[in-house]
Amino acid sequence: MSTQATGPEPLVAILARIDAAAARVGRRVELLAVSKTHSASAVAAVAAAGQRRFGENYVQEAQGKIEALRPLGLRWHLIGHLQSNKAALAASLFDCVESVDRPKLLPLLDAGRAAAGLPPLDILLQVNIDDETTKSGCAPAELPALAEAVRSCPHLRLRGLMSIPAPAHDLAARGRSFAALRILFDELASKDSGVDTLSMGMSEDFELAIAEGATEVRVGSALFGARTAADRESGIGNR
Ligand SMILES: *Cc1c(COP(=O)(O)O)cnc(C)c1O
Repeated sequence: MSTQATGPEPLVAILARIDAAAARVGRRVELLAVSKTHSASAVAAVAAAGQRRFGENYVQEAQGKIEALRPLGLRWHLIGHLQSNKAALAASLFDCVESVDRPKLLPLLDAGRAAAGLPPLDILLQVNIDDETTKSGCAPAELPALAEAVRSCPHLRLRGLMSIPAPAHDLAARGRSFAALRILFDELASKDSGVDTLSMGMSEDFELAIAEGATEVRVGSALFGARTAADRESGIGNR
């Protein structure tokens, strides 16, 4: 299990930890390397080590990196809150949007993807598992209707769920949030063979998330180093 942040680890070390945790549950788990606030050259260095999938939080910040690194053929996921007025641009830039949490985004993403002339955009629904009023994410009860709405969009493809559990001071509470997500994911996957992705777990808790059913973990600071002290303090894992 990870301890308090100890500075960045090389990609091979993170992948070895992911593979060991995945082997314990007999599943394959993908790494999404979260590159927000880090430069295109920092991304290129991690890509040169073999990483293909990167996560970004802000559409405009991502745009520069995606365009600069286009020749590398990387895969980009949007994991930050998506404003309606950025939805069409996001649909033209990203390969997957993990932060879909309200019906209003869907026609905008669908039309944006069609206009870009690209194959269907992968979609994860972001769930607010701990019922925090301030966080993004739909309520679990809203999932079936939102999933159905995605299925009605020809240029979108529902792939699964994403969540950012509330900061918890003990791992047992975090584990309960992950387990609750796993139940919602299994329900969705049982009705839709295209649903194969459960995105949960970050630098501080990705091994626990894998044990509880994650198929994708989103790792930023453990790989790229700390962002800023303010980010760290507002983040999770201050136990
Ligand atoms: C920043 C971020 C991450 C990565 O967090 P780390 O603690 O740096 O690994 C993962 N998911 C989301 C949604 C984020 O915003």
